This record gives sequence, structure tokens and C-alpha cells, in this order.
Amino acid sequence: MSFQQVEEMVTAQLRIIEPSALGRRALATARSFLTGPELIRCDSLPSGQARRNLTIGHALVRVVVAEQFALEPAQVLLVQKCPTCGGPHGRPHVADLPVHVSITHTANVVAVVASRRGPIAVDCEECPPRTHHRDAMTRLIPSGENSGDDREAVKRWTIHECLMKLGMRELDDLRPVHIAAHPQKPDTFLVEGSYFSSVALPAAVVTVGSPAPVDLSISSEVPEPLKSASMPIHPPPQSIGPFTGRPTVRRHSAQRSPF
Ligand SMILES: [Zn+2]
Repeated sequence: MSFQQVEEMVTAQLRIIEPSALGRRALATARSFLTGPELIRCDSLPSGQARRNLTIGHALVRVVVAEQFALEPAQVLLVQKCPTCGGPHGRPHVADLPVHVSITHTANVVAVVASRRGPIAVDCEECPPRTHHRDAMTRLIPSGENSGDDREAVKRWTIHECLMKLGMRELDDLRPVHIAAHPQKPDTFLVEGSYFSSVALPAAVVTVGSPAPVDLSISSEVPEPLKSASMPIHPPPQSIGPFTGRPTVRRHSAQRSPF
């Protein structure tokens, strides 16, 4: 018998959808899953797009968790409570269920991830980036590695955001992101001891990060509970790579919260 060390895998579900794929009825269904505090926060957002994407993200994460636990989406209670000020922002968590979740969106993509095994984060950014974001993103590329490829800069930014969501980096910590290949898994890469996988969409990059190796299943299908009046969306692209963690304390940053 071999006593070779085997990394314990974390199973996680990543779900990516285009908000424009959801019709009015699906959006109404999505909204019906939200609780009073979520609706108040949602309705306080300044743009229709922001309200739509928050609604979809919060509904989608319920759908994914409900699938894992054989529940109805509306039975999944999603809570955001800032540990510093008590406000309805900060890392989302699911009440009363042993599952970790993360939510992200750009204008045209909403992505959620759920894992029953440990902390997990997802971040999505538009690619190519807006001009005013490109400089900050490019700073994350180690010197000598900048090929001028926008996707590399955007990917590093998503890793930076995941590290923040996992409490492993501060918002203003723009040290270069050094990526190392995983010795066994070509779709996984390592950054600062954590495991990452990235997915390249036509106009965005989605990255999932975890302190432990992740066995990631990816779906870009609009899930059944939100399917009414929906259109199909792009197939998920090639996986690029996940990551690991020590518990750290996240400083308060409500104004520029990545969540
Ligand atoms: Zn706060």
C-alpha cells in the first residue's frame, strides 16, 4: 500500500449565466426568493442593471444550494451582515446549512459558486477591461511577464479579488500576482498558497479560488427554477486553474466591498 499524500479535494459548483437570458417572468421568480433585507438593499441600488444582477445572483446561489441539499430555493436563507457595522453587505453566507458561497457579477455575467467543503470565492471581470481599470490590473502582472494580453491582466485582477473575498489580501494590496502551475492538474494554478481555476468567457474572465484544491463543476445553463422565458447562453469555456487558505481577519471596507 502506498502512503503517498493525496490532496483532499473540495467539490464546488460554479454556475455562470447571462442576465439578459432571463425574461421578466424569470426575474420575478428570482425576486420572489429574496428576503426583506435583500429587497431593501436591492431597491436602494442606483441602476436597474445593478438591481437585476443582485437579484439574479442572490436567486442563483439559492438555486445551487437548494440543489445540493434537496430544498426549494426559497428555503435557502442568504445572509449578509457586516461584522464591523452590521450593515447588509460583506461576505454572504447561508444560514443553518454547512455550505460556503460566493457571488459575483459584471454588467453581462452573473456567477455564483457553492462548496460544502470549505471557503470559496468567485470573481468575474469584463475583458477587455475599461480603460481606467487597465492600469491597476496591469500592475498585478509580475515585471517581465506582461505580454500585453488583456486577458492575463484581467485574470490576475479576478485572483486578487478572490484573495480579498477569502480574507487573504487587503483591497489596496496590489502586489504582483505570481501564478504557479499545479503539478498534477492542468486546469488549476496556485497563487500565494491557494488554488485557482479561471474560465474565459467571450467578454469576461471568471475565477474561482479556494484555500484547498477544488473539484469544480461548471454549468452555464439557466437552472430550471429560473428557466421561464429564458434563452440559452454560451457554453462554458475552457477552465484555466483554483487555490488554499489560512484563516485571516478581513478589515472593514464597506465602501469598496468586493462582495
Ligand atoms: Zn460595514
